[in-house]
Amino acid sequence: MNIKQRIASRWHSFRAWQEQPITYRRDEHKHVCHNCGHTFRGNYCPVCSQSARQGRVGWLTTWQGIAQLWGFESRSAVYTIWQLLLRPGYLVRDYISGKRQVSYPPVKLLFIMAAIVALAEYFFPRPAEAPVQTGIEYLNHALEWLDNHKNVSELLSCCVFILPTWLFFRKAPLYTHHTIPEGFYLQVYLAILSYIFYSILPGLKGLALALSLVYFYITYKQLFGYGYWGTFWRSLLCITFSFAFVIFITVVIIVSEVILR
Ligand SMILES: [Zn+2]
Repeated sequence: MNIKQRIASRWHSFRAWQEQPITYRRDEHKHVCHNCGHTFRGNYCPVCSQSARQGRVGWLTTWQGIAQLWGFESRSAVYTIWQLLLRPGYLVRDYISGKRQVSYPPVKLLFIMAAIVALAEYFFPRPAEAPVQTGIEYLNHALEWLDNHKNVSELLSCCVFILPTWLFFRKAPLYTHHTIPEGFYLQVYLAILSYIFYSILPGLKGLALALSLVYFYITYKQLFGYGYWGTFWRSLLCITFSFAFVIFITVVIIVSEVILR
């Protein structure tokens, strides 16, 4: 096999993994549940739902207990981030279409990541940036709060895309009848990605933004299945609409402030 064929075969197996990363197999051995004593075959006890693998407390249990505190009860939180980087649109489609077990719960993941970043910043503090001064006091407070809670601000800025996404992508070939609640979860995943990029590239906001936009495009392409161009102009419309909405809200706030003064 020459190099070209080898690359092609690797690419094909990567594409297969992107489409279907996990296969499930039923454990056919007989187990006696350590919790309720029920005898069963399968991965979980059908009476009390304890895992067949749970037994006496050991070193692994201790580690799992500590990891659980941070939400990493299995490899799935780390594996979810890994999947999100390599197959974002497919992961989102799996999750919103009902395959909940392939992913760590995304909202929980976003908040756990914020806790980890806060802990890292406690030990390795970053030079504080000067807060934005808008001239409107409550707006300054709101912006300062959002600056200290970047996971929430990331999520809020992503949520602006929910409605335009529904508008332009709901008749997509690979994911028809896209709904608003599904749109929310799509944006949670995109917020996680942006949050990762902004956290690991603290001084390089432009690069983090560029990466977020590239992932926005890839995710929409994989999830909805429009062609390169079809995804591009719809994404562009989405971004334009969201941007116009943010400008509209800003103008409303400034105008109401002027009138109330
Ligand atoms: Zn049981």
